[in-house]
Amino acid sequence: MEALPLFHRLRGETCVLVGAGKLAARKLELLRAAGACVRVIAPQCCAEIERLAASDALILIRRRFRAADLNGAVLAVAATSTPAVNRAVHRAARVRGMPVNVVDQPELCTVTFPAIVDRDPVCLAIGSGGAAPVLARMLRTRIEALLPERTGELARLAREYRPAVRAHIGDPTARRAFWEQVFSGRIAESIYSGRPDAARRELEALLASAGEDSAPRGEVYLVGGGPGDPDLLTFRALRLMQQADVVLYDRLVSEPVLALVRRDAERVYVGKRAGTHAVPQPDINAQLIAHARAGRRVLRLKGGDPFIFGRGGEEIEQLAAAGIPFQVVPGITAASGCASYAGIPLTHRDYAQAVRFQTGHRRGDTVDLDWEALARPGQTLVFYMPLEGLAIICEQLIRHGLPATLPAALVERGTRPEQQVFSATLATLAELVARHRVHAPTLLIVGEVVKLRERLAWFEDRSPT
Ligand code: SAH
Repeated sequence: MEALPLFHRLRGETCVLVGAGKLAARKLELLRAAGACVRVIAPQCCAEIERLAASDALILIRRRFRAADLNGAVLAVAATSTPAVNRAVHRAARVRGMPVNVVDQPELCTVTFPAIVDRDPVCLAIGSGGAAPVLARMLRTRIEALLPERTGELARLAREYRPAVRAHIGDPTARRAFWEQVFSGRIAESIYSGRPDAARRELEALLASAGEDSAPRGEVYLVGGGPGDPDLLTFRALRLMQQADVVLYDRLVSEPVLALVRRDAERVYVGKRAGTHAVPQPDINAQLIAHARAGRRVLRLKGGDPFIFGRGGEEIEQLAAAGIPFQVVPGITAASGCASYAGIPLTHRDYAQAVRFQTGHRRGDTVDLDWEALARPGQTLVFYMPLEGLAIICEQLIRHGLPATLPAALVERGTRPEQQVFSATLATLAELVARHRVHAPTLLIVGEVVKLRERLAWFEDRSPT
């Protein structure tokens, strides 16, 4: 290890900052955030530090640095542009055995400032041993995105209840299991979604039942996995995917999305397989309930958004009736994903003032829809499950009054690397599609807006039209 990370408690302690330019101002901000009393030594100073000095937030000594300035301090930071001064600070600190940081000169530092992810009182520090500060900062950004905003609040809740938990659960192993349950289940989720009172109630209930032989309570996460590109997942979806014990997923969930589910979670496929039927809906509902009753965190992962042609509503109705706690996480629905990645705005001031999501599912030889309503002008039509009924849909729309020349596009495997877009008109689309081997899933978009794609397509670099 290049250096040992330690957290330095500075509240009420004196720190010396030599230099008062822009770089110094940044260090000053950090030292003050940690509650330090900062003694700034500099003949001149920038406006920001001048302002702070006027408000008594620091002690400003307007002259050159002297070694005795370090007396009584616990940390020295040099942030001047004069190498000789920086070296002098380093030397004086070393003589006193005091930790010292010299900005941008790792060889003169015994301590360095890491990149910080601050969820006070939780704090993550990332260092690169001075080798690549930019890399450390980029990693920080990634971790920022993964850690829920309210992580600190969760830690504060734990602090508040620690004495009670210690008094109530004597066995350290049981205590650890208790906290794991708090940090990875419903209580944490209540905090993350901004419901601290619910979290408190749940924590108290959990504590009251600790030691009893009650089975842990499972729960179900109904999560929208989006149309395929894993970058389109929400932060919440990803978090729940990574804490689930078991996942039930279907055909529409893409491989790269599935790969983000916790590695040791049990995976149960409930979609159709070639030649066989999908697991019937009542069976899926029963499985969700059984897993949750066994105390598991169950991820029900669906393509797109669970509440759009996803039967998500039916699944959670059953859960609600069975008294199983659940939460629903929206996903990017195929219409949004495919339209964006195909360069087709679904609404447009000049062409479409409304957009309609429709299932195009064929039953026998017909697609039974309200064609009159669908053939109204000024709207974009999006058909889910359109492939088998494609010719019928196009024909009926023309028969009910939409122009045969109206632009229409079939988006195949939208947002995935294999995406293809078949772009034509109501009169010609079915024939164009019939000439190609098309893979599910596909989505049909009909309306004037489809022609904007000529200028706005950006994702796929080849197209069969
Ligand atoms: N809940 C899903 C839709 C389920 S219905 C959602 O909100 O997107 C299944 C239909 O969704 C498919 O038949 C297809 O029409 C559409 N679909 C889902 N993902 C798609 C994708 N990546 N590309 C094209 N169509 C998609």
